[in-house]
Amino acid sequence: MILIDGKKVAEEIRKDIKIQISKLIEDNKPLPGLVTIIVGDNSASQVYVGMKSKTCIELGMNSKVEQLSGDISEKELLEIIDKYNKDENYHGILVQLPLPKHINEEKVIEKIIPEKDVDGFHPINVGNLVIGKDTLFPCTPYGILVLLEKYNIKTKGKHVVVVGRSNIVGKPIANLLLQKKENANAIVTVCHSATSDISQYTLQADILIAAMGKPKFITEDMVKDKAVVVDVGTNRVDDQTAKKGYRIVGDVDFENVSKKVSYITPVPGGVGPMTISMLMFNTLKAYNKINKL
Ligand code: NAP
Repeated sequence: MILIDGKKVAEEIRKDIKIQISKLIEDNKPLPGLVTIIVGDNSASQVYVGMKSKTCIELGMNSKVEQLSGDISEKELLEIIDKYNKDENYHGILVQLPLPKHINEEKVIEKIIPEKDVDGFHPINVGNLVIGKDTLFPCTPYGILVLLEKYNIKTKGKHVVVVGRSNIVGKPIANLLLQKKENANAIVTVCHSATSDISQYTLQADILIAAMGKPKFITEDMVKDKAVVVDVGTNRVDDQTAKKGYRIVGDVDFENVSKKVSYITPVPGGVGPMTISMLMFNTLKAYNKINKL
Protein backbone atom coordinates (compact mmCIF):
# COMPACT_ATOMS: atom_id res chain seq x y z
CA MET A 1 0.00 0.00 0.00
CA ILE A 2 1.26 3.47 -0.91
CA LEU A 3 0.29 6.40 1.26
CA ILE A 4 -0.56 9.47 -0.81
CA ASP A 5 1.31 12.27 0.91
CA GLY A 6 -0.82 15.37 0.35
CA LYS A 7 1.38 17.44 2.61
CA LYS A 8 4.42 16.79 0.44
CA VAL A 9 2.63 17.43 -2.86
CA ALA A 10 1.00 20.59 -1.46
CA GLU A 11 4.45 21.81 -0.41
CA GLU A 12 5.86 21.17 -3.91
CA ILE A 13 3.04 23.21 -5.45
CA ARG A 14 3.69 26.07 -3.04
CA LYS A 15 7.42 26.03 -3.84
CA ASP A 16 6.64 26.29 -7.54
CA ILE A 17 4.24 29.21 -6.95
CA LYS A 18 6.88 30.95 -4.84
CA ILE A 19 9.40 30.70 -7.68
CA GLN A 20 6.88 32.22 -10.11
CA ILE A 21 6.17 35.08 -7.70
CA SER A 22 9.92 35.70 -7.18
CA LYS A 23 10.19 36.21 -10.94
CA LEU A 24 7.37 38.76 -10.84
CA ILE A 25 9.19 40.58 -8.02
CA GLU A 26 12.47 40.55 -10.02
CA ASP A 27 10.64 42.03 -13.00
CA ASN A 28 9.06 44.73 -10.82
CA LYS A 29 5.58 43.47 -11.69
CA PRO A 30 2.62 44.05 -9.37
CA LEU A 31 1.99 41.12 -7.04
CA PRO A 32 -0.95 38.73 -7.15
CA GLY A 33 -3.42 39.51 -4.37
CA LEU A 34 -6.15 37.61 -2.57
CA VAL A 35 -8.85 39.19 -0.46
CA THR A 36 -10.69 36.94 1.96
CA ILE A 37 -13.99 38.21 3.25
CA ILE A 38 -15.23 36.80 6.53
CA VAL A 39 -18.61 37.60 8.05
CA GLY A 40 -19.07 37.10 11.80
CA ASP A 41 -16.88 35.28 14.28
CA ASN A 42 -17.25 31.56 13.51
CA SER A 43 -14.11 30.13 15.13
CA ALA A 44 -13.46 27.44 12.49
CA SER A 45 -13.79 30.04 9.71
CA GLN A 46 -11.34 32.32 11.54
CA VAL A 47 -8.78 29.50 11.61
CA TYR A 48 -9.24 28.70 7.88
CA VAL A 49 -8.99 32.36 6.88
CA GLY A 50 -5.88 32.80 9.04
CA MET A 51 -4.22 29.81 7.33
CA LYS A 52 -5.07 31.11 3.85
CA SER A 53 -3.73 34.57 4.60
CA LYS A 54 -0.53 33.21 6.18
CA THR A 55 0.14 31.03 3.12
CA CYS A 56 -0.41 33.99 0.75
CA ILE A 57 2.17 36.03 2.64
CA GLU A 58 4.66 33.14 2.78
CA LEU A 59 4.46 32.85 -1.00
CA GLY A 60 4.94 36.58 -1.53
CA MET A 61 1.36 37.41 -2.54
CA ASN A 62 -0.67 40.30 -1.21
CA SER A 63 -3.28 39.22 1.28
CA LYS A 64 -6.12 41.15 2.82
CA VAL A 65 -8.62 39.83 5.31
CA GLU A 66 -11.86 41.82 5.30
CA GLN A 67 -13.46 41.02 8.64
CA LEU A 68 -17.13 42.06 8.62
CA SER A 69 -19.65 42.14 11.41
CA GLY A 70 -22.07 39.20 11.64
CA ASP A 71 -25.03 41.58 11.29
CA ILE A 72 -23.90 43.23 8.06
CA SER A 73 -26.76 43.37 5.55
CA GLU A 74 -26.69 41.35 2.36
CA LYS A 75 -26.75 44.57 0.33
CA GLU A 76 -23.69 45.95 2.12
CA LEU A 77 -21.79 42.69 1.62
CA LEU A 78 -22.61 42.66 -2.09
CA GLU A 79 -21.36 46.26 -2.37
CA ILE A 80 -18.07 45.31 -0.69
CA ILE A 81 -17.62 42.39 -3.10
CA ASP A 82 -18.25 44.75 -5.99
CA LYS A 83 -15.58 47.11 -4.68
CA TYR A 84 -13.05 44.25 -4.84
CA ASN A 85 -14.33 43.17 -8.26
CA LYS A 86 -13.05 46.54 -9.48
CA ASP A 87 -9.89 46.71 -7.34
CA GLU A 88 -6.84 45.96 -9.50
CA ASN A 89 -4.75 44.96 -6.46
CA TYR A 90 -6.83 41.82 -5.89
CA HIS A 91 -7.05 39.01 -8.42
CA GLY A 92 -8.82 36.56 -6.16
CA ILE A 93 -11.88 37.13 -3.99
CA LEU A 94 -12.94 34.49 -1.52
CA VAL A 95 -15.96 34.77 0.74
CA GLN A 96 -15.55 32.31 3.60
CA LEU A 97 -18.60 30.04 3.94
CA PRO A 98 -20.87 29.44 5.74
CA LEU A 99 -22.52 32.86 5.90
CA PRO A 100 -25.06 34.00 8.49
CA LYS A 101 -28.61 32.83 7.72
CA HIS A 102 -29.89 36.27 6.64
CA ILE A 103 -27.45 36.32 3.71
CA ASN A 104 -28.16 34.39 0.52
CA GLU A 105 -25.01 32.41 -0.35
CA GLU A 106 -25.97 32.03 -3.98
CA LYS A 107 -26.29 35.78 -4.48
CA VAL A 108 -22.89 36.27 -2.87
CA ILE A 109 -21.20 33.62 -5.02
CA GLU A 110 -22.74 35.10 -8.15
CA LYS A 111 -21.62 38.63 -7.24
CA ILE A 112 -17.92 37.76 -7.47
CA ILE A 113 -16.81 38.21 -11.09
CA PRO A 114 -15.90 34.78 -12.56
CA GLU A 115 -12.34 36.02 -13.33
CA LYS A 116 -11.68 36.50 -9.59
CA ASP A 117 -13.71 33.53 -8.33
CA VAL A 118 -10.76 31.55 -6.95
CA ASP A 119 -13.09 29.13 -5.15
CA GLY A 120 -14.53 28.14 -8.54
CA PHE A 121 -18.12 28.27 -7.28
CA HIS A 122 -19.57 30.84 -9.73
CA PRO A 123 -22.08 29.25 -12.15
CA ILE A 124 -19.99 30.45 -15.13
CA ASN A 125 -16.92 28.62 -13.80
CA VAL A 126 -19.00 25.57 -12.88
CA GLY A 127 -20.47 25.57 -16.41
CA ASN A 128 -17.01 25.85 -17.98
CA LEU A 129 -15.80 22.95 -15.86
CA VAL A 130 -18.73 20.78 -16.96
CA ILE A 131 -18.22 21.49 -20.68
CA GLY A 132 -14.48 20.83 -20.37
CA LYS A 133 -13.10 24.38 -20.71
CA ASP A 134 -10.11 25.51 -18.71
CA THR A 135 -11.33 27.71 -15.88
CA LEU A 136 -10.92 28.29 -12.13
CA PHE A 137 -11.68 24.86 -10.67
CA PRO A 138 -12.87 24.38 -7.06
CA CYS A 139 -9.81 23.86 -4.87
CA THR A 140 -10.52 20.55 -3.12
CA PRO A 141 -11.57 18.58 -6.25
CA TYR A 142 -8.72 20.12 -8.22
CA GLY A 143 -6.36 19.05 -5.45
CA ILE A 144 -7.60 15.46 -5.77
CA LEU A 145 -6.95 15.54 -9.52
CA VAL A 146 -3.41 16.80 -8.92
CA LEU A 147 -2.74 14.14 -6.25
CA LEU A 148 -3.79 11.37 -8.65
CA GLU A 149 -1.57 12.84 -11.36
CA LYS A 150 1.45 13.25 -9.09
CA TYR A 151 1.20 9.61 -8.02
CA ASN A 152 0.82 8.59 -11.65
CA ILE A 153 -2.54 6.96 -10.96
CA LYS A 154 -4.21 6.49 -14.32
CA THR A 155 -7.89 7.35 -14.51
CA LYS A 156 -8.57 6.62 -18.19
CA GLY A 157 -11.21 3.89 -18.47
CA LYS A 158 -11.18 3.35 -14.71
CA HIS A 159 -14.37 3.16 -12.69
CA VAL A 160 -14.43 6.03 -10.22
CA VAL A 161 -17.11 5.95 -7.54
CA VAL A 162 -17.72 9.23 -5.74
CA VAL A 163 -19.74 9.08 -2.53
CA GLY A 164 -21.25 12.55 -1.97
CA ARG A 165 -22.67 15.05 -4.45
CA SER A 166 -22.08 18.45 -2.87
CA ASN A 167 -21.38 21.45 -5.09
CA ILE A 168 -17.95 21.91 -3.53
CA VAL A 169 -16.60 18.35 -3.66
CA GLY A 170 -18.73 15.51 -5.08
CA LYS A 171 -20.21 17.12 -8.21
CA PRO A 172 -17.06 18.94 -9.36
CA ILE A 173 -14.71 15.96 -8.87
CA ALA A 174 -17.18 13.71 -10.71
CA ASN A 175 -17.33 16.19 -13.59
CA LEU A 176 -13.57 16.75 -13.69
CA LEU A 177 -12.90 13.02 -13.93
CA LEU A 178 -15.54 12.55 -16.61
CA GLN A 179 -13.84 14.90 -19.09
CA LYS A 180 -12.34 13.48 -22.27
CA LYS A 181 -8.87 14.54 -21.15
CA GLU A 182 -5.59 12.84 -20.41
CA ASN A 183 -5.84 13.04 -16.61
CA ALA A 184 -9.56 12.13 -16.55
CA ASN A 185 -11.54 10.02 -19.03
CA ALA A 186 -12.99 7.87 -16.24
CA ILE A 187 -16.31 6.07 -15.91
CA VAL A 188 -17.96 7.88 -13.04
CA THR A 189 -20.67 6.79 -10.62
CA VAL A 190 -21.97 9.19 -7.98
CA CYS A 191 -23.66 7.91 -4.81
CA HIS A 192 -25.58 9.99 -2.28
CA SER A 193 -27.99 9.70 0.62
CA ALA A 194 -30.73 8.23 -1.58
CA THR A 195 -28.45 5.41 -2.77
CA SER A 196 -29.52 2.14 -1.23
CA ASP A 197 -26.83 -0.48 -0.72
CA ILE A 198 -23.82 1.76 -1.35
CA SER A 199 -21.46 -1.25 -1.18
CA GLN A 200 -22.92 -2.51 -4.43
CA TYR A 201 -21.25 0.50 -6.10
CA THR A 202 -18.18 1.05 -3.93
CA LEU A 203 -17.09 -2.56 -4.42
CA GLN A 204 -16.84 -1.89 -8.16
CA ALA A 205 -14.61 1.14 -7.71
CA ASP A 206 -11.08 1.16 -9.09
CA ILE A 207 -10.87 4.60 -7.51
CA LEU A 208 -13.14 5.41 -4.58
CA ILE A 209 -13.62 9.01 -3.50
CA ALA A 210 -15.36 9.42 -0.14
CA ALA A 211 -16.85 12.88 0.47
CA MET A 212 -19.82 12.51 2.77
CA GLY A 213 -18.75 13.89 6.11
CA LYS A 214 -19.52 10.62 7.95
CA PRO A 215 -16.68 9.39 10.15
CA LYS A 216 -15.25 6.00 9.13
CA PHE A 217 -18.33 5.22 7.02
CA ILE A 218 -16.35 3.34 4.36
CA THR A 219 -15.29 0.04 5.85
CA GLU A 220 -13.00 -2.73 4.59
CA ASP A 221 -15.87 -4.85 3.25
CA MET A 222 -17.00 -1.95 0.99
CA VAL A 223 -13.71 -1.67 -0.90
CA LYS A 224 -12.27 -3.79 -3.70
CA ASP A 225 -8.76 -5.29 -3.29
CA LYS A 226 -6.04 -2.98 -4.66
CA ALA A 227 -8.43 -0.06 -5.13
CA VAL A 228 -7.25 3.55 -4.86
CA VAL A 229 -9.02 5.34 -2.01
CA VAL A 230 -9.25 9.12 -1.68
CA ASP A 231 -10.70 10.26 1.62
CA VAL A 232 -12.02 13.83 1.59
CA GLY A 233 -13.87 13.54 4.91
CA THR A 234 -12.74 15.83 7.71
CA ASN A 235 -14.73 14.94 10.80
CA ARG A 236 -14.19 15.93 14.41
CA VAL A 237 -14.71 13.05 16.82
CA ASP A 238 -14.45 13.27 20.60
CA ASP A 239 -11.19 11.98 21.99
CA GLN A 240 -10.45 12.70 25.62
CA THR A 241 -6.88 11.48 25.18
CA ALA A 242 -6.24 14.27 22.65
CA LYS A 243 -5.07 17.69 23.82
CA LYS A 244 -8.04 19.47 22.23
CA GLY A 245 -10.56 16.84 23.34
CA TYR A 246 -11.17 15.76 19.75
CA ARG A 247 -9.32 14.41 16.73
CA ILE A 248 -9.91 14.55 13.01
CA VAL A 249 -10.92 11.40 11.16
CA GLY A 250 -11.90 10.79 7.56
CA ASP A 251 -14.92 9.12 5.99
CA VAL A 252 -12.85 5.95 5.59
CA ASP A 253 -11.94 3.46 8.30
CA PHE A 254 -8.27 3.98 7.50
CA GLU A 255 -6.82 1.36 9.82
CA ASN A 256 -8.64 -1.54 8.17
CA VAL A 257 -9.20 -0.23 4.64
CA SER A 258 -5.52 0.66 4.18
CA LYS A 259 -4.59 -3.04 4.51
CA LYS A 260 -6.25 -4.01 1.23
CA VAL A 261 -5.84 -1.02 -1.09
CA SER A 262 -3.04 0.00 -3.48
CA TYR A 263 -3.09 3.74 -2.62
CA ILE A 264 -4.84 5.72 0.07
CA THR A 265 -4.91 9.31 1.33
CA PRO A 266 -4.59 9.68 5.10
CA VAL A 267 -6.67 12.10 7.20
CA PRO A 268 -5.13 14.42 8.15
CA GLY A 269 -2.31 14.90 5.64
CA GLY A 270 -4.02 13.75 2.44
CA VAL A 271 -6.54 15.87 0.54
CA GLY A 272 -6.72 18.59 3.23
CA PRO A 273 -3.33 20.26 2.67
CA MET A 274 -3.97 20.38 -1.09
CA THR A 275 -6.94 22.72 -0.75
CA ILE A 276 -4.96 25.80 0.31
CA SER A 277 -2.20 25.12 -2.23
CA MET A 278 -4.79 24.95 -5.02
CA LEU A 279 -6.29 28.22 -3.77
CA MET A 280 -2.87 29.83 -4.15
CA PHE A 281 -2.54 28.20 -7.57
CA ASN A 282 -5.93 29.64 -8.59
CA THR A 283 -5.00 33.11 -7.35
CA LEU A 284 -1.85 33.09 -9.48
CA LYS A 285 -3.83 31.67 -12.42
CA ALA A 286 -6.43 34.46 -12.06
CA TYR A 287 -3.61 37.04 -11.87
CA ASN A 288 -1.98 35.69 -15.04
CA LYS A 289 -5.28 35.65 -16.92
CA ILE A 290 -6.31 39.15 -15.81
CA ASN A 291 -2.86 40.48 -16.80
CA LYS A 292 -2.85 38.43 -20.02
CA LEU A 293 0.46 36.76 -19.04
P1 NAP B 1 -21.93 18.03 2.33
O1 NAP B 1 -22.23 19.29 1.61
O2 NAP B 1 -22.53 17.79 3.66
O3 NAP B 1 -22.33 16.83 1.37
C1 NAP B 1 -22.27 15.51 1.81
C2 NAP B 1 -22.70 14.60 0.69
O4 NAP B 1 -22.64 13.27 1.16
C3 NAP B 1 -24.14 14.83 0.23
O5 NAP B 1 -24.21 14.73 -1.17
C4 NAP B 1 -24.92 13.72 0.90
O6 NAP B 1 -26.03 13.26 0.14
C5 NAP B 1 -23.89 12.61 0.96
N1 NAP B 1 -24.13 11.72 2.09
C6 NAP B 1 -24.28 12.04 3.38
N2 NAP B 1 -24.51 10.93 4.12
C7 NAP B 1 -24.50 9.90 3.24
C8 NAP B 1 -24.67 8.50 3.38
N3 NAP B 1 -24.90 7.95 4.57
N4 NAP B 1 -24.59 7.74 2.29
C9 NAP B 1 -24.36 8.30 1.07
N5 NAP B 1 -24.20 9.61 0.88
C10 NAP B 1 -24.26 10.39 1.95
O7 NAP B 1 -20.37 17.83 2.53
P2 NAP B 1 -19.12 18.37 1.68
O8 NAP B 1 -19.00 19.82 1.85
O9 NAP B 1 -19.13 17.78 0.33
O10 NAP B 1 -17.95 17.69 2.53
C11 NAP B 1 -17.82 16.30 2.65
C12 NAP B 1 -16.71 15.99 3.62
O11 NAP B 1 -15.49 16.51 3.09
C13 NAP B 1 -16.85 16.66 5.00
O12 NAP B 1 -16.30 15.83 5.98
C14 NAP B 1 -16.03 17.93 4.86
O13 NAP B 1 -15.54 18.40 6.10
C15 NAP B 1 -14.91 17.43 3.99
N6 NAP B 1 -14.26 18.48 3.20
C16 NAP B 1 -12.91 18.53 3.26
C17 NAP B 1 -12.23 19.48 2.53
C18 NAP B 1 -10.75 19.51 2.58
O14 NAP B 1 -10.14 20.50 2.26
N7 NAP B 1 -10.12 18.42 2.95
C19 NAP B 1 -12.93 20.40 1.75
C20 NAP B 1 -14.32 20.31 1.68
C21 NAP B 1 -14.97 19.33 2.42
P3 NAP B 1 -27.30 14.19 -0.23
O15 NAP B 1 -26.83 15.08 -1.34
O16 NAP B 1 -28.31 13.23 -0.68
O17 NAP B 1 -27.64 14.94 1.02
